[in-house]
Amino acid sequence: MTETHSTAVRGDSGPEVARLVASRVLDVPDFPKPGVVFKDLMPLFADGHVFREVIDGIIAHHGRDSFDMVVGIEARGFVIAAAIAYAAGVGVVPVRKAGKLPRPAYSASYALEYGEATLEVHQDAFTAGHRVLVVDDVLATGGTAEATLDLVERAGGTVAGFTVLLELAFLEGRKRLSPRPVHALLTV
Ligand code: AMP
Repeated sequence: MTETHSTAVRGDSGPEVARLVASRVLDVPDFPKPGVVFKDLMPLFADGHVFREVIDGIIAHHGRDSFDMVVGIEARGFVIAAAIAYAAGVGVVPVRKAGKLPRPAYSASYALEYGEATLEVHQDAFTAGHRVLVVDDVLATGGTAEATLDLVERAGGTVAGFTVLLELAFLEGRKRLSPRPVHALLTV
């Protein structure tokens, strides 16, 4: 587990939740390629108590009645989205990598360091006015999130909020998504 000091830990839901997330993140150097420190949140998902605290904290932050649908971004976002949706009694919509969805879909492409990535959502995923909470595990450059928020809006949804468990501040994804508000439980 990552060793943290209480004064150094920050996040948009306060230091207690931030510390909880920090205590269940593993830094994996040079994955998936040299120079990248992968933030592995599997220990958080695997700890039933912490996972529940985190899910309940996200719902409390936004307010149980502020969203009608949860979107998770493939693949770790699915874990978070499904838990929120179940706890809040709403539905869940997956935003998937290109070519995985069986019916007509909207696509959004964005630049990666090398090449391009494409995300998709079913065209009939939302009815007009659906308030959609979007979740993922890590916010890095913000390209994934930006594409997803665009897809939600193109498919007729209204973005009610965007939450990540962990934000890598030095990559300035939050700036890229501005003026849309970003809710990060832990900012490093
Ligand atoms: P980005 O589009 O650059 O904001 O990248 C965010 C997406 O890539 C999320 O779906 C994350 O799961 C994943 N990701 C990017 N960087 C990392 C990292 N250092 N550790 C873990 N996941 C990451």
